[in-house]
Amino acid sequence: MKKITYKIEISLKSPLIVSSGETNSIMRSMIIGIDGKPIIPATTLKGIVRSNYIYLHHCQHKIFKCNCETCMLFGSQNNRSSLVFFEDLKPSEEYYVSIRTQTAIDRYRRAVHLNNLFSQKTIENTTFCGEISIYLPPDLEKQNVKEKFEQAVKFIEMIGSGKSRGLGHVKVCIEEVGDR
Ligand SMILES: [Zn+2]
Repeated sequence: MKKITYKIEISLKSPLIVSSGETNSIMRSMIIGIDGKPIIPATTLKGIVRSNYIYLHHCQHKIFKCNCETCMLFGSQNNRSSLVFFEDLKPSEEYYVSIRTQTAIDRYRRAVHLNNLFSQKTIENTTFCGEISIYLPPDLEKQNVKEKFEQAVKFIEMIGSGKSRGLGHVKVCIEEVGDR
């Protein structure tokens, strides 16, 4: 089995939502790490790369008992373990945090409800860094899974919520650092 390790860098092109007053599951995908700094959780990143892989490489993915290439690589519910390992990504440099407050307007009464006010914490002008490791058995190596995986990572353009407001645009770079 061949082990490949990558360094991944995700640079923010627009502010990224790290937390918000809303109890929405998508909003909670960005969290604050134990040292109080924002992180992009490994599970969030893996989920995005996994769906990119299915989309880009036209995998015949099924919800149950699936053995498609994506499930071989990323693991599946029927006890297939993952061959890819992501780290939580941490900001590499100084970052700028701001609070955005948004109002929800009642469509029928056209009134602004104070209790619908919520604030979102965003982070900008930074690069999140971490490592990804992938273990390839010879059969997957022959199917160009390494190159396909790299494409799925590079395909990330957005992270988090607020897409309609232009938030969460990112630029992704990965670099192979070899087996360590
Ligand atoms: Zn599958």
